Amino acid sequence: MKKDYYEILGVDRNASKEEIKKAYKKLARKYHPDVSSDPNAEEKFKEVSEAYAVLSDDEKRNLYNTYGHQGVDARYSREDIFRNVNFEDIFRDLFGNSDSIFKDFFKFDFGRDFFRREERGRDINVRMEIELEDVAFGTKKNLTYTRTKRCDYCNGTGAESPEDFKTCDLCKGTGEVKEVKRMGFSQFVRITSCPKCKGKGKIITKKCKYCNGNGKLREKSSVVVEIPKGIRDGVSLRYKEMGEYRGSYGDLYVTIRVKPHRFFKRDGNNVIYRAEISFPEAVLGTKIEVPTLYGNEMIKIPSGIQYNDEIKLRGKGLPRMGSFGKGDQIVKIVFRTPEKLSRREKELYRELLELHSS
Ligand SMILES: [Zn+2]
Ligand SMILES: [Zn+2]
Repeated sequence: MKKDYYEILGVDRNASKEEIKKAYKKLARKYHPDVSSDPNAEEKFKEVSEAYAVLSDDEKRNLYNTYGHQGVDARYSREDIFRNVNFEDIFRDLFGNSDSIFKDFFKFDFGRDFFRREERGRDINVRMEIELEDVAFGTKKNLTYTRTKRCDYCNGTGAESPEDFKTCDLCKGTGEVKEVKRMGFSQFVRITSCPKCKGKGKIITKKCKYCNGNGKLREKSSVVVEIPKGIRDGVSLRYKEMGEYRGSYGDLYVTIRVKPHRFFKRDGNNVIYRAEISFPEAVLGTKIEVPTLYGNEMIKIPSGIQYNDEIKLRGKGLPRMGSFGKGDQIVKIVFRTPEKLSRREKELYRELLELHSS
């Protein structure tokens, strides 16, 4: 017996489109086979997706409200049920910008492709924060994360041994069944994926003891992320086949975020440093020590320097990625006009003023 679509989504019969969408999103997140640890995740995911496909479409919903499952199933093939439903947006919302989810979803629901296990697991996106110093010198960082991996014991078949299969008696191993449905005076014939073996043509007679017939397991994985010198903020590094498994592996993308630095601001391969000096120092010139990514440096400030003037420390910036040489450190000189003056200071400034006006 097929369950009621409204019941599956946990909404009432008068639910608005928004409520239906919200309910589906919640359940899709819970049961997506790539992220769920529920052993029946795939089945449940299909079930909630089908309910959503029907209830989010006015015509199909009407048909369902009037005739129930029979009405929908007689009128639409499984593929048609899912046609024109914008799952892509929903999945992008839920799981980020991975196209593969959408494609995987359709493959896995529509028949034989899925069961031939030709599809690919979802890509995984991970953020990694690094320091500006890591950009200057390059580094290696260990990244540990959880993903769905193929069960090595059964090679992803889900069966305890290669002998633990039998040919499906319902479809005789073809994975497809012919259905004849009647509605009123019409008769519909359509070919669908075999419900007994789910289109595989084979049935597992003894489930793999490690993965319980799923062919895959949630496990910890780790990669050594090599941060090249000069890497830009926001760059994604790709690790092939380190993503989720579903028939084959998706990729892992590590997006590098460079944390703000307490001294330096990055400008391409240059770093900018603001050095504050006193007003008299600006007038008379001085020597100051400034930090660089490669240790402190003494720099000479010429007399009469202006606010925001720049002093360039050549080669003290960041390495150019995949090339030679480094950018510069730009020291921006800033100072403040003195506000609180002692009596003596005031005297001296008055003297200066007199000197200027004479
Ligand atoms: Zn079958
Ligand atoms: Zn297994």
